[in-house]
Amino acid sequence: MKAVRIHEFGGPEVLRFEDVPQPQLRKDQVLVKVQAVALNHLDLFIRKGLPGIKLPHINGSDVSGTIAEVGEYITDLKPGQRVLLAPMTFCGVCPACTSGQQNLCPQFSVLGYLNDGGNAEYIAASRVNVLPIPDELTYDEAAAVPLVFVTAWHMLVSRCHVKPGDFVLVLGGGSGVGSAAIQICKLFNAQVIATAGDEAKLEKSRELGADYVINHYQQKIADEVKKITGKAMCDIVFEHVGKATWTESMKSLKPGGSLVTCGATTGPEASFDIRFLFARQLSFLGSFMGTMGDFHEVMKHIFSGKLKAVVDKSFPLRDARAAHERLEKSEQFGKVILNP
Ligand SMILES: [Zn+2]
Repeated sequence: MKAVRIHEFGGPEVLRFEDVPQPQLRKDQVLVKVQAVALNHLDLFIRKGLPGIKLPHINGSDVSGTIAEVGEYITDLKPGQRVLLAPMTFCGVCPACTSGQQNLCPQFSVLGYLNDGGNAEYIAASRVNVLPIPDELTYDEAAAVPLVFVTAWHMLVSRCHVKPGDFVLVLGGGSGVGSAAIQICKLFNAQVIATAGDEAKLEKSRELGADYVINHYQQKIADEVKKITGKAMCDIVFEHVGKATWTESMKSLKPGGSLVTCGATTGPEASFDIRFLFARQLSFLGSFMGTMGDFHEVMKHIFSGKLKAVVDKSFPLRDARAAHERLEKSEQFGKVILNP
């Protein structure tokens, strides 16, 4: 089969479109013919080099496709069904997994991170990861959903308990996770202030439901939040940008507010005044992906049309390099998709 693999870490030029052996199907697995796979920042980080990655490696966490074959032990699925994959791997038997907290499993990982992912014509997946999708949902839309929506849902709902009337500052409303966050906040009738770096992305953030927008290159985020909220500031700040915005994010919180983060795309180190943290009784919450419960909850709202996949642009798998470059330059609004 054809796949895009990396044999060494580096720039987009290390992505190789080549022939690789088709995955061997275990009796408890499902073989999926991949129709669409979405890019995530994780793909860029893996390409540049992360510990634990065995080379050559196939990226790809968000996969949709059709079932090509089912293992002998699988009785409730059949070839031809349209499906998407939960973008996570976990042991399934430890106390964390069996209590529904898969992202606390010692073996928890993102699909396509420590194992081969979906930048290929076929992928073998465990039964638990496979979810049939309705005909109305295109393969591109299905692939655009899982990782960013599960991540945003876990942050806002499971970690921060977002509620009606909350002011939520969503950093990077044009990113995959940001565009998911805006919609989830509106599902809970929260008030959304979204930031973005250009007018087109600000306008699209408004279309997704953002009540207020801030241009994070031209305006001071915390000053704008102060004006918008009448000095009340935010209940929740939704972070994934990191170093570039951390100080403004902290300053945008009301006393007792929560900053939740799932990433640091502009850099991992930030400093802050500890007195500010305790005197204002802030909470800093880390969040990594989500649980199978979050996944099924999110997909229910996608299937009912209350949450919508945001597809930026799709590329043939052989053009993975151009797709990586688009994400790397932040040219996208929503998800960049590859079609094998
Ligand atoms: Zn486990």
